[in-house]
Amino acid sequence: MGCGWCCLDNPCGVSHSLHGYLPRCPELLWDETEGRYFCRLLVEPRPGVDLTELRAGKGCCAPLNPWRGHLLRRR
Ligand code: SF4
Ligand code: SF4
Repeated sequence: MGCGWCCLDNPCGVSHSLHGYLPRCPELLWDETEGRYFCRLLVEPRPGVDLTELRAGKGCCAPLNPWRGHLLRRR
């Protein structure tokens, strides 16, 4: 759903391997038109970067997370 909670709370292993431990994953994009977050690696795949662990398209892993019902750009 693109609420951003997972990526803001705990950047994934792909982010760690590409960028190290940063306060905020630089691949997390807010789309003003869609009103949700996207992962840039999914929108613009990079050769050699394995995205299997993101499980994109498999559904939300935190269905009780209240952020899902209130999509907004988090600072
Ligand atoms: S690489 Fe993509 S899925 Fe992983 S933390 Fe960053 S924005 Fe989220
Ligand atoms: S809580 Fe669900 S909708 Fe929000 S970032 Fe995580 S998987 Fe996506």
